Amino acid sequence: MELITKRPRGTEDKLPKDIYKWHTIEKIAGDVAQCYGCKEIRTPTFEHTELFQRGVGDTTDVVQKEMYTFNDKKGRSITLKPEGTAGAVRAAIENGLLNDALPLKTYYFTRCFRYEAPQSGRLREFNQFGVEVFGTYSPASDAEVISIAYDVIERLGVENISLEINSIGCPKCRAEYHKALKEYYSQFKDQLCGTCLERLERNPMRLLDCKSEICKSFKKDAPLITDYLCEDCDKHFTEVKERLDLLGIKYTVNPLIVRGLDYYTNTVFEFISNDIGSQGAVCAGGRYNGLVEEVGGNATAGLGFAMGLERMIMVMENQNKDFMPDKKCDLYIASFDDESNKYAMKLVKQLRDYGFWAECDVTGRSFKAQMKYANKINATYCMVIGGEEMASSQAKLKRMSDGEETPVKLDDSFVQRLNTLIMEIV
Ligand code: ATP
Ligand code: MG
Repeated sequence: MELITKRPRGTEDKLPKDIYKWHTIEKIAGDVAQCYGCKEIRTPTFEHTELFQRGVGDTTDVVQKEMYTFNDKKGRSITLKPEGTAGAVRAAIENGLLNDALPLKTYYFTRCFRYEAPQSGRLREFNQFGVEVFGTYSPASDAEVISIAYDVIERLGVENISLEINSIGCPKCRAEYHKALKEYYSQFKDQLCGTCLERLERNPMRLLDCKSEICKSFKKDAPLITDYLCEDCDKHFTEVKERLDLLGIKYTVNPLIVRGLDYYTNTVFEFISNDIGSQGAVCAGGRYNGLVEEVGGNATAGLGFAMGLERMIMVMENQNKDFMPDKKCDLYIASFDDESNKYAMKLVKQLRDYGFWAECDVTGRSFKAQMKYANKINATYCMVIGGEEMASSQAKLKRMSDGEETPVKLDDSFVQRLNTLIMEIV
């Protein structure tokens, strides 16, 4: 019995009283992405498990340990999406979007599901805002994509977020780097965690990503990818940095940021906040020139990022940042009896047609209780409809903040009059 009144571990209810925060971040992120020519894409909440094994990579923590995978009634393996990129890539290929004008620029809001150890900033169901761009190898687009995330953060007014960038080269220059990493980490073989021992064989770059304290301590003397970049990759990285400078975007190069899979190429980046504890990465992304082909399309460049929205909201709350104000009830119309309640209901309908938030009683409660309710929901104006008001088509608008009353005619001029009064307050 108790189970059904408790949400599963690692999930959150986003309550009506807080929803204006979500509306704020969704509005700003969507508006910014659209300024860059991105169009929204919505892909399914679940996909064939194979898509993530291929598209996220079967040596990653996400695929190895964190996926919500189950068989459907026909015995097909289905996975709730742990991230947004793979689905966007699949949708772009399947719907022929990559045959249209390129670059294809997309953005999305998605829920993600990962079986992780829940803690502050780490949930099992969480929300991401993401951008994916396809069909351009130019460093200008790396800078442009980073700039989208940068603008969102800036428009939200968030401070103390640093941008760290790196280049992880291409499979060609990475082969040498893998060798160097393997050699370096082999000396600590007897101290590495189990996962890292496996990484050493299958995916050495991920060694730098381990969160265990011991493995982390070996990072400081590890060979750096930036010393192994081939000429083309080095040039690409230099040009990305030039473009970021051009756009006035501040960054530091952190050669320890990696993405451990072959189809990730060149630029990788993270936006990090120091204000929300150890889960400080609020946004991460990079270029994935090999991914479209890996998922079954024609070789097509790609790049993007995903921003963790719960973490962004945490940062904003910690910094006492303003969200878009929540909407308020413009007018509550109280009534005395069935007849005046019907009159009120018609008035309310009229106002709603014009976009006002208007309410009247729908519970059958007393006049006094209606007034109490109007106060509780913090209505901006209140109006009383009784026999007199109905007979004369006149009533008084009472401003709830100070009690000031304005007589109004309940004819065609009413909507305009209310609008003017409300505009005066704002
Ligand atoms: P972390 O290192 O914190 O585990 P990650 O590398 O797994 O992050 P990505 O897969 O790059 O994260 O996802 C992009 C963003 O999504 C992260 O920067 C973070 O803001 C957010 N995010 C990732 N996992 C979670 C989670 N379990 N709960 C809440 N937000 C998350
Ligand atoms: Mg993770």
